[in-house]
Amino acid sequence: MMPHFSYKTSKKDLQRRGTLDTPHGSIQTPFFMPIATRGAVKQVTIDELKGLGASIILSNTYHLFQRPGLEILKKFNGLHSFMGWDGPILTDSGGYQVFSLSKMRKITDEGVRFQSEIDGREIFLTPESVIETQLTIGSDILMVLDECPPWPCTREEAEKAVKRTIAWATRSKVYFEKRMKQKRIAPEKRPLVFGIVQGSTFLDLRKRCVEELSKLDFDGYAIGGVAVGEGMEDKQTIIKAIAPLLPADKPRYLMGLGKPEEIVFAVQNGVDMFDCVIPTREARHGQLYVRKGAITKKSFYETIKIGNEKYKFDKKPIDPHCPCYTCTHHSRAYLRHLFSINEGLALRLATLHNLAFYLDLMKELRK
Ligand SMILES: [Zn+2]
Repeated sequence: MMPHFSYKTSKKDLQRRGTLDTPHGSIQTPFFMPIATRGAVKQVTIDELKGLGASIILSNTYHLFQRPGLEILKKFNGLHSFMGWDGPILTDSGGYQVFSLSKMRKITDEGVRFQSEIDGREIFLTPESVIETQLTIGSDILMVLDECPPWPCTREEAEKAVKRTIAWATRSKVYFEKRMKQKRIAPEKRPLVFGIVQGSTFLDLRKRCVEELSKLDFDGYAIGGVAVGEGMEDKQTIIKAIAPLLPADKPRYLMGLGKPEEIVFAVQNGVDMFDCVIPTREARHGQLYVRKGAITKKSFYETIKIGNEKYKFDKKPIDPHCPCYTCTHHSRAYLRHLFSINEGLALRLATLHNLAFYLDLMKELRK
């Protein structure tokens, strides 16, 4: 099989700089994926995303499966043409959502049964059905179904989840390869499939999970179950211990993380891919990022609450050094005003800025 990933490692730490090839183009690593859970990055158009430098977006199998549903996606030949995005798309398997959102779920070795919180119907997900759904979506990077245990959990619970995650990963890979053969997909059109490492805060369980998943020769490896409520110290311990163990010739993806300083830390420990709701969600709450200096400094940014009284007469942009549309056109005082009257434009302008902050941070990390 063709290698999809090439990289160089920094001389001073474990940081990598690379290129990941997908059916919808190559992406420079390390990169950040804006979240388009239901096929839209909230408030932002495709052209705006491209203008901000987003090279790939993340969407969610669980949500797309329910709405718009597979029938519509099939009619459109997948999510790319449905939403008008021609770049790479990664889809989350939905495992995390099933375990965190849905009530009335029942997990067996076969799969997970749960009730839709939208229309109450019963849905049964298996490792195979989740791969098939992602093929229908037309994802460039598919994630396998895994079991993400809650945090905190006992060692027994974590061990059980790891065992099931490995068994499901094996079934997912077998099914994926079978479907690739059946569909006779040309090597350059072949999507990538990633395994997910679980094990909670038990490093030996995570190591075992890495060893078993590595044998399955996935196109990339993700560290899952990290941003689930544990503290910064636990997160750092897991990243530091596990990221360097993942196969070096494959991209490494830290799921659901994180704050800017967490991303910098993970990149320095050899992680290549990130996604997080923080920049877009905080933007909608008027929480905005301002750069303070070089990434090497401990506090290289701060967040400001734009609704604060002190910005009432502030003529400065959110961040004078930010090249985004918001900062080149509007003052803090105007943005504060838009938030105070609940104007939809406020959410758009704030989202554009926070995404610019994250994507510019990645650009800088790639230098
Ligand atoms: Zn800006």
